[in-house]
Amino acid sequence: MSQAVRTTCAYCGVGCGVVATPNGERSVAIAGDPDHPANGGRLCSKGTHLGETVGLEGRLLLPMIGDKRASWDKALDLVARRFRETIARHGPDSVAFYVSGQLLTEDYYVANKLMKGFIGSANIDTNSRLCMSSAVAGHVRAFGEDVVPASYDDLDAADLFVLVGSNTAWCHPIVYQRIQARRAASGAKLVVIDPRRTETCEDADLHLAIRPGTDVALMNGLLAYCCREGLVDEAYLAASVSVPEGFWESLDEGHDLWTIAKVCDVPPADLQRFYDLFAAHPRTVTLFSQGINQSLRGTDQVNAICNVHLATGRIGKPGAAPFSITGQPNAMGGREVGGLASSLAAHMDFAPDNIARVGRFWSAPRMATKAGLKAVDLFRGVSEGRIKAIWIMATNPAVSMPDAGRVREALAGCPFVVVSDVIADTDTTRYAHVRLPAAGWGEKDGTVTNSERRISRQRPLFSLPGEARPDWWIVKEVGRRMGWGHAFAYDRPADVWREHARLSAYQNDGARLFDLKTHAAIGNEAYDALEPFSWGGRPFADSRFPTPDGRARLVAVRQAPLADPLSAWPMTLNTGRYRDQWHTMTRTGLSPKLARHREEPLVEVHPRDAERLGLAEGDIARVTTPQGDSLFRVSLSAGQRRGELFTPIHWTDRQSTGGRTGLLPRPLVDPHSGQPGFKQTPARAEKV
Ligand code: SF4
Repeated sequence: MSQAVRTTCAYCGVGCGVVATPNGERSVAIAGDPDHPANGGRLCSKGTHLGETVGLEGRLLLPMIGDKRASWDKALDLVARRFRETIARHGPDSVAFYVSGQLLTEDYYVANKLMKGFIGSANIDTNSRLCMSSAVAGHVRAFGEDVVPASYDDLDAADLFVLVGSNTAWCHPIVYQRIQARRAASGAKLVVIDPRRTETCEDADLHLAIRPGTDVALMNGLLAYCCREGLVDEAYLAASVSVPEGFWESLDEGHDLWTIAKVCDVPPADLQRFYDLFAAHPRTVTLFSQGINQSLRGTDQVNAICNVHLATGRIGKPGAAPFSITGQPNAMGGREVGGLASSLAAHMDFAPDNIARVGRFWSAPRMATKAGLKAVDLFRGVSEGRIKAIWIMATNPAVSMPDAGRVREALAGCPFVVVSDVIADTDTTRYAHVRLPAAGWGEKDGTVTNSERRISRQRPLFSLPGEARPDWWIVKEVGRRMGWGHAFAYDRPADVWREHARLSAYQNDGARLFDLKTHAAIGNEAYDALEPFSWGGRPFADSRFPTPDGRARLVAVRQAPLADPLSAWPMTLNTGRYRDQWHTMTRTGLSPKLARHREEPLVEVHPRDAERLGLAEGDIARVTTPQGDSLFRVSLSAGQRRGELFTPIHWTDRQSTGGRTGLLPRPLVDPHSGQPGFKQTPARAEKV
């Protein structure tokens, strides 16, 4: 038996610590890390079965040019030459990187630096755009910086949990267990706001099955109620929050209990119960996830939640905060390095002084001067021929992007596609001119940041298989070959980490909360031994915010008009995860035990809708939307709202001819964040 290694789970943004003990060739015993603050030794089903996913089945182990094996030198030279030639002929905005919340922070940092400081474009976006970019935009509007103002410790202090658009029991199981532990110990209450009756609702004190897309009305109604009942913290507002003109007046009309109940389509008595619970429990944590973020009004929905917390002073105190829980293991690390097209680096935006500051720090020859293309627009750019070379790292957009069929066509027509991945044959690698074998979980070495801003180490358990290499190494080798070797002279992840830490503090003057200056000169051994830590302490505990005047902002948001149920598309398609699968199943699909939970993709339909449509349990139904169609086996579920369908996101061409949810959502996005509205696609279903 080898020595136990403390590392971090490969999957969700809870960021659980794992004790991994290699016990043979590509074999490892997995246990929860009892000393990790995120999970205290607990693991969910996905984390528990990590050991079943570390084999080399299906791995990409060699660089490939087309279908031919190539040396690293040849493959990297080709990538560097084609990017250089494309930029020389068509300019820096003719190339793009599409990266991933699966990357480690060090990988993300090097890719972001190459694109924004040396190529001179901000056309680097990430699959985190699909996951939490509305939370980012909402945080910036409310607080001045993308700061999550909560930690898991707040779950141990709250008296009321409001879960909005989050099947926490399945998608963030260890967070859910912590909520349940607090409820068992203290009697804390749980309200779930979700159009579907999910497993998270089973033990809730109240479930509000609201009409999809009415979260703004619900939260504005709650805020109006707080005004009427004297729950607004006037002293806190006067000292710490800017209120736009006309804000309170806008809440006077149409936010009474009866009107809100009608708009949200919930019983008035249930709505009143929610209001009463909110009034009775000042220590409230409102956790929100994809039901809020993946909406065409996601940013407004985030701000509607933040407004309630700011107006009632339920922020910056133990057990009181709005809390965006992230989907991916390192969505937060990507945000910290600036891995979104809409941010620059270290939580800086594209303000001229920030561009100059980062340019000085990097000694950058050609800084990006404006935000780049966000995911949907980026692939539209590929489709329209404006992007002529794209490098996709650790993600599978041919499955996961909305209107995935169009993304496939775009990649098929793109002159140069590079894919770095651990898997040889994915729906995306099929379009690659060059495939580069990347290190996977259990081989990678670096850091990730979880939902509560806690940074933990992922550590290697095995030597690199075949010719696989870490992503940071692959990107820096391309940077070197493009002529910038001096700027990409990293020998190990710790070199990248130190530079990232220095940049976070570089001429910061305390303007941003994100600041890792204590790590700027960390030694290699100390980096290797790094214990999980959170940056930012308890944000806003001093009632000061990282805005020019130090005040947070209420943001006036209005409920958008609702869709017409009598249109040609009489139903609404909602999409999401299953408990035991992750993304496009490249890893979890390897585990027989995880496969047992749901063996195939199902469309969930309310029994009365099914009766109307002539569908029975186990039938095959065609689900059609304006973008496409796919076949699913029918599952009758009384937990569905009437008129709603639900399908899982995971299945791909590799696993199934049907169940292709990615083909169905429209490529429409929130106007502030660019996040696609996966949750509310006009649809119909019919028996085949
Ligand atoms: Fe891994 Fe998330 Fe499960 Fe924790 S809750 S074990 S991070 S999948």
